[in-house]
Amino acid sequence: MSILVTRSSMPPIEDYVEEIKPIFESHYLTNMGPIYKKFQKQLIRYLQVPELSLFVNGHMALEMAIQALELRKEGGEVITTPFTFASTTHAIVRNGLKPVFCDIRPDDYTIDAEKIESLITEKTVAIIPVHVYGNICDVETIAAIAEKYNLKVIYDAAHAFGVTYKGIGIGNFGDASMFSFHATKVFNTIEGGAVAFHDRKYRVPLHELKNFGIHGPEDTLAVGGNAKMDEFRAAMGICNLRRIDECIEARKKVYDRYVERLDNVKGICLSKHQENVVANYAYFPVLFEPAEFGKSRDIVFDELEQADIHARKYFYPAINEMSCYKEKYKDQTTPVAHKIARKVLTLPMYEELSLEDVDRICDIILN
Ligand SMILES: *Cc1c(COP(=O)(O)O)cnc(C)c1O
Repeated sequence: MSILVTRSSMPPIEDYVEEIKPIFESHYLTNMGPIYKKFQKQLIRYLQVPELSLFVNGHMALEMAIQALELRKEGGEVITTPFTFASTTHAIVRNGLKPVFCDIRPDDYTIDAEKIESLITEKTVAIIPVHVYGNICDVETIAAIAEKYNLKVIYDAAHAFGVTYKGIGIGNFGDASMFSFHATKVFNTIEGGAVAFHDRKYRVPLHELKNFGIHGPEDTLAVGGNAKMDEFRAAMGICNLRRIDECIEARKKVYDRYVERLDNVKGICLSKHQENVVANYAYFPVLFEPAEFGKSRDIVFDELEQADIHARKYFYPAINEMSCYKEKYKDQTTPVAHKIARKVLTLPMYEELSLEDVDRICDIILN
């Protein structure tokens, strides 16, 4: 049977039916209704963040966080990572800002905080790093730089749902953090996302931006868009949130089996274990060093495909190698990110993946 790189978590159908019944009575389908509010409260508790605003998806959450923090400035620059999903960079560019790509660390693939300072100019307005694969960035160094240069920090925490650092929810770092609840993520609301933040002054702007900037029945303050989470998706969130701890626990079993089979194999490099971090086991990225392993990433990918196992070259290419960006930013060099993008493969990872299937995947890789 075919194995995909991921499989969306779904609650028992009875749970979902129970949760959406009130909608069929009230006919209140969207516009920050009672289920939206209930889900928002539950998420604030689960993520241990002071403030949270729900969105139709993670991408719009990030776009509107950038707008709410008033980063839009003629010629403004944002320091970010090229080793991410296109969404991160697109959100910067679609806000009229210029991405400045900082290279990444070779061991956990997050932005190399030591290299940020040299990229700061008088045009820099913010840093937008990514907790890639759920590996957390060097939040302490980034906070120190941001303070020194008076820059805003927005984390793309799309991969980091439920991750904690030193016992603190990951959404507490920086000025804001974006979470994605897309179907393929550890926690999903089908499509969905959120911005977590601590300064209450962003509460009203974020709330209004996702609803066309409408301030009241007779006035519109900001040039907003439409990015509200509806009641059906909030209901899905409530159902999936009930099972999230089990789901992460199941992923850990898969993760541990992969590590057991693939750690210490010559030419295979696994993501570095991070101290003081409670992980969410969102992905299982593996680097293949062709000279030592004897096979390249692309060959391993093809061999798995032949067995109907679908891993993903995630992230490949790096953002600044994509057609929409490569000509524009070719003066910016990020050799570590480019090297990793050519070697990395994310292996299938989801709660229902059996350990027998993990063994089968590892057998194909190792033989
Ligand atoms: C999924 C993802 C996004 C976008 O989230 P959506 O909910 O799909 O809009 C942004 N950044 C990263 C790193 C992602 O993986």
